[in-house]
Amino acid sequence: MSALTGSVLVVARHATFQLVADPTVEQARALARHEGAARFAFNQGLRLHLDARNESKNAANGTDGDAVSVKVPWTGFDLINAFNAWKKTEEAGRRFVVDSTGAAVLEVTGLAWRAEVSAQVFEEAVVDLGKALGAWTASRRGKRAGRAVGHPRFKKKNHERGSFRMRNKTSKTKAGQRATIRLGENGPRSVTLPSIGAIKVHDDTRRLRRMLDKGRARILFATVSRRGGRWRISLNVEAADLHPAAQHQPRDDADHSGWAGVDRGLHTPAVVALADGTQTLRIDEAPKALRTAQPVTRRLQKSVSRKVKGSVNRRAAIRRLARHHERVRARRHHFLHQVSNLLVKTQDRLVIEDLNITGMLANHRLAAAISDAAWGELARQITYKMAWRGGQVLTADRWFPSSKTCSACGDVNQTLTLADRVFTCANEDCGRTLDRDLNAAINLAAWGEQHHSQVLDPEARGQVINAHRREGSGRRARADETSPDDVGTLTATAA
Ligand SMILES: [Zn+2]
Repeated sequence: MSALTGSVLVVARHATFQLVADPTVEQARALARHEGAARFAFNQGLRLHLDARNESKNAANGTDGDAVSVKVPWTGFDLINAFNAWKKTEEAGRRFVVDSTGAAVLEVTGLAWRAEVSAQVFEEAVVDLGKALGAWTASRRGKRAGRAVGHPRFKKKNHERGSFRMRNKTSKTKAGQRATIRLGENGPRSVTLPSIGAIKVHDDTRRLRRMLDKGRARILFATVSRRGGRWRISLNVEAADLHPAAQHQPRDDADHSGWAGVDRGLHTPAVVALADGTQTLRIDEAPKALRTAQPVTRRLQKSVSRKVKGSVNRRAAIRRLARHHERVRARRHHFLHQVSNLLVKTQDRLVIEDLNITGMLANHRLAAAISDAAWGELARQITYKMAWRGGQVLTADRWFPSSKTCSACGDVNQTLTLADRVFTCANEDCGRTLDRDLNAAINLAAWGEQHHSQVLDPEARGQVINAHRREGSGRRARADETSPDDVGTLTATAA
């Protein structure tokens, strides 16, 4: 359906289209079967891995008699091979058949239902297992930043949620090659998935179809997820560069100006200002849905705990709570995308705070509106969206006291507390008084102008994302630009 396979498409960004599915009863059954198959493959892969690990340990200890070295499958690739070998074995499935002489013989069938689901689902699930095992080993050896990662565990069937993933491949047909994941075959609002068929979706796919037809985009994979009885399909898409008109004019290397500081305010979601003190953007309040989310969460949680365990009422209360979480999550994502779009469109050079420092300062009375995690997500969005637009993002040194420094004279006011909404300079000769968040944003902008050289020297301290991605980072590095959770990234940003 598209001329894009094998074309010389210059690819620069990833985006996710999230669609709400409206499957037929039969399709819903097929989706559930695939979800179950993904879980099964993950668990079976884990079992094969653990068994091999045990065996190899026993062999090493000499308790196993013969000292044959056992190969433990660790990577996604090895796990796929291990699973594929296993699924044809007697252990995976067998049956008695009566042969021509009338004698009953045991026939090895392998995994009997393996033809009923797309084999990709198995593969993607064990690839995930490989990643989880890799993250666990890296974390254990101290080679992974962030929170410690636990060992992958067996997945239990969850009545509220589940998911599986399918990669888009090219299959040969009489008419030529075509993609296995396609759009618009059952009306404009439909997505075709391998071995499941054309599923109706609530959303119009015209925009994406146009991009696919023009060869400006390519679907990489589809993640199908279920939350509280509703199926969603998110399409992970690789898209061509933004139109030049949507990109920022490149600046001269010698030009140190134009940096705008983004302060994550304690009282406001975001304040943006230039080094000269001009406030360019102020987002005073998070959407009401986010501000009032916590009390509602508490009320719904209490409602769950008051119900008798195992009762119908309790199940209904749990479902209400899950729906609420889902709504809040969607609104938060939407809000963060709005903020990040606004920032990258209106500025070409941004300085953001190091997230470690914002985490340390977290004020728990106010943190409710927007969590640290959400700010991490915002920084991530700003970073990749700015790269699309050819702008620059600089992360301020984590020890830079952006809140406590006077933006007028540079004096540091150590007595400023989290409760102070207004910054007052302690230096008597200056005595500058201004909004706390604005003061911090101005300081961040000034920091950017002073540390401009870091943009040109990626080895320097501070995280730098330079403008021209095509020359720099490879395709792999970009794979994380959007997560399957990003709602309508492209819809909101593409020109
Ligand atoms: Zn001052």
